[in-house]
Amino acid sequence: MEKMRGIQIVKPGALRIIEMDVPRPDQADNVLVKIRAAGICGSDVGIYHGTNAAATYPRIIGHEMVGEVVETAPTAKKVKVGDRVIVDQVKACGHCWACRHDRPNVCQQLQVRGVHIDGGYREYMAVPDADCYLLPDGLRDEDAVLIEPTTIALQACSRAQIAPDDEVLILGVGALGSRMLSIARLSGAKIIVADVVEERLQEALESGADHAINLLNEDLGEKLKAYTTDAYGPTLSIDCACTKDSLGTLIACSGNAGRIITMGFSVAPTEVTNFGITSKELDIRGSRLQNRKFQAAIDLIREGRIDLDHKTSHAFHYLDAQKAFDFIDSRDPSIRKVVLTFD
Ligand code: MN
Ligand code: ZN
Repeated sequence: MEKMRGIQIVKPGALRIIEMDVPRPDQADNVLVKIRAAGICGSDVGIYHGTNAAATYPRIIGHEMVGEVVETAPTAKKVKVGDRVIVDQVKACGHCWACRHDRPNVCQQLQVRGVHIDGGYREYMAVPDADCYLLPDGLRDEDAVLIEPTTIALQACSRAQIAPDDEVLILGVGALGSRMLSIARLSGAKIIVADVVEERLQEALESGADHAINLLNEDLGEKLKAYTTDAYGPTLSIDCACTKDSLGTLIACSGNAGRIITMGFSVAPTEVTNFGITSKELDIRGSRLQNRKFQAAIDLIREGRIDLDHKTSHAFHYLDAQKAFDFIDSRDPSIRKVVLTFD
């Protein structure tokens, strides 16, 4: 059997390159994709460090998977050999309560590629044609990995029921937060961003944020009053910082009847109070992965409403994955999005 290489997290902190068989397309996983680029997400870093409670080991990680269709089984209808595609990371059972209520992204038997089952940091993977989405022409493979975090932002804004009269706080404008900004602003809502890195705040302002708050030297609560109508506070807060304490922070500064979207995976205890939620009658909603948002994200690119061109900041060859993860751990301020390439 033909062999290929993949990047496996053996256990937290231990990354190795392994050799494995090239998969064959079959009845179910009827498309063989040759991976060309795979993004490194905060959640991949979490699996590497052992802080992602959902992950199981050993695991080939990577869920932002872009490649070329190189072989198909007869059941494959949606794509053909030569197509450039991005692969949906969600595998759902199709019959649990969540699946029956059109929430496959929180299926009871959820299997996420790169988390519960092997993902995209390998040369080839076999997947169902239904999970493949055609890339827009002209979008580089490295930038196309950002379609995945864009789907995550679409999911959060959908869960939030974002509306034009919202005054939105995006906490954290790193890789995820900047995608959130690009989607949230399409609603017409006022957008306030907060972060600890000044350069990210400046970029967010250039990308359409209305106000920016530097958490290192400005008081979040006071600034939110200054930037919202009648000092109301945000009507919608989206946690793209995902630190242990961000939920408490957002509860404290939310306007009454506001919505708060959590996206973090921390299991560290943090203090929130009944009063904080009840007195303002807050809606606190989780947003996990995405619910079939790939086509919507790709349509937004095709329509020119969002732009992913050259939004990735660093590329490493996949066999240098260790270097890439070490570089991310260095917290270099130039990091926006790091991508593994496969040529
Ligand atoms: Mn991701
Ligand atoms: Zn299910």
